[in-house]
Amino acid sequence: MGYQALARKWRPRDFKRMVGQGHVLRALINALDKDKLHHAFLFTGTRGVGKTTIARIFAKCLNCETGVSSTPCGSCDTCREVDEGRFVDLIEVDAASKAKVDETRELMENAQFLPTRGRYKVYLIDEVHMFSGHSFNALLKTLEEPPPHVKFLLATTEPRKLPITVLSRCLQFNLRKLPIDEISGQLMHILNEEGIPVEEGATRLISVAAEGSMRDALSLLEQAISYCDDALAISDVKAMLGTVDRVHIQVLLKALAMGDGKALMARIAVMAGDVVDFDDALRELLGVLQRIAILQVVPDGFGDSEPGEEEIMALAKEITPEDVQLYYQIGLMGRRDLPLAPDPKSGFEMTLLRMLAFRPVGANTTISQGTRVNSDPAKQTGQARSSVAPPTPTPEQPQIAPVPFPANPEAWPQIVAGLDLVGLARQLAGNCTLTECKDGLVRLCISPSHRQLAGDKRREQVERALCSYWGKNIRLTIEVSTADSAETPAAIGKRTENERQQAAEQAINEDPTVQTLRTTFDARIEKVVTRNHD
Ligand SMILES: [Zn+2]
Repeated sequence: MGYQALARKWRPRDFKRMVGQGHVLRALINALDKDKLHHAFLFTGTRGVGKTTIARIFAKCLNCETGVSSTPCGSCDTCREVDEGRFVDLIEVDAASKAKVDETRELMENAQFLPTRGRYKVYLIDEVHMFSGHSFNALLKTLEEPPPHVKFLLATTEPRKLPITVLSRCLQFNLRKLPIDEISGQLMHILNEEGIPVEEGATRLISVAAEGSMRDALSLLEQAISYCDDALAISDVKAMLGTVDRVHIQVLLKALAMGDGKALMARIAVMAGDVVDFDDALRELLGVLQRIAILQVVPDGFGDSEPGEEEIMALAKEITPEDVQLYYQIGLMGRRDLPLAPDPKSGFEMTLLRMLAFRPVGANTTISQGTRVNSDPAKQTGQARSSVAPPTPTPEQPQIAPVPFPANPEAWPQIVAGLDLVGLARQLAGNCTLTECKDGLVRLCISPSHRQLAGDKRREQVERALCSYWGKNIRLTIEVSTADSAETPAAIGKRTENERQQAAEQAINEDPTVQTLRTTFDARIEKVVTRNHD
């Protein structure tokens, strides 16, 4: 027998040998063994997770010459023809290429005819969401009144694009991406069977790169075998995959933890010498940060320890969770902006320098000032360098010392500030101006727009407050008038508050740290809140 591609050679021939998708297989096996078969199945899931494999095994189960069961014999003509992909009653359709109405209609019309060789015609329609509206109608007609000898296996990566009429007539199964361990285990099994020695951890690298697809994993394994001389060595697999050496990432994070800019730049230079793909490096860095974040919350969070785990554990103790979050966020932004950088290396450099510059000064982190990139001491006095203490304009503090009687009209705001008043009575006093003050008589003026404040009860409250303010009997009258143009205490308060707000907004907008935050994180200033610290 000539050379066979691994993916073909190791394509599972029965459900028992399939890796992963246990929940789907169990349902299919039960249905087959209890002879309760639905006529249409819909498999959703990404590419390379086993849709075609399941369909082929299913076709064998239905058509094996030894009878319908979940365990086809694998040796009869039918089983062999299915395995070799030439069984006439297994009709594989790629909807992406057969989207024309006529062809679909013809296909569906043919479904009415009895199978040529087997008991059932099995239609595997891949990427079924690519069908046009007319093609769906043709499919739907057959789904509505399915001939007893037809089974449909529909597969799609985008079930949301399917009409509800089709969805409602199918049993739906979600095929999951395969976990790294399952892929890795299968690769180890294959290598053992093929008699190829492998360094521990090499299959894991391939499994991670395969991103949940067994098909991709097998084709990567194939490449790795031809790339490596006799045994699968980690270094070779890394070189083949273009995997960024974990050591680089660990050194970078260590340098960040120490605030050591020199070590950081030196390592980036080494990486550039190694012709590292800096986008991959950022992705790897993010992956390590994510592992660190999990380890900080759940110290034994990973049952599946991998090479270099102790170093990551050590970093998890050296970097604070806040820093990990910050680095992660900056790393994400850095990846997004990498294509915009003059070149990948400088984009990577700036991202790492940003992590260094924004590193909050915490209690349990060591700082070596000399190596800090941005060591402006004025900025480091706060707890966190990325937080901005808004400038606090000195509030115009009202003088509480009593104004002697009789008082000038200009002194009214000062008097109001010293009155023992709350609520609406305080509002009343605040919205008045003083027009006369003599011989135990105080005359106030209020504008027509505030006249509703000047009720008798509140007038009496203000009068009592004035009596106790000056320690003498005062008679208070309030006139509604527009005649007095002096500024009321309330108006003065409002004006100064506006001025203070404007000053604060301007100061914050001009703050260099805020400007960097904006460009780094796409930050937006929602609202500037000023507080009186009196
Ligand atoms: Zn058979």
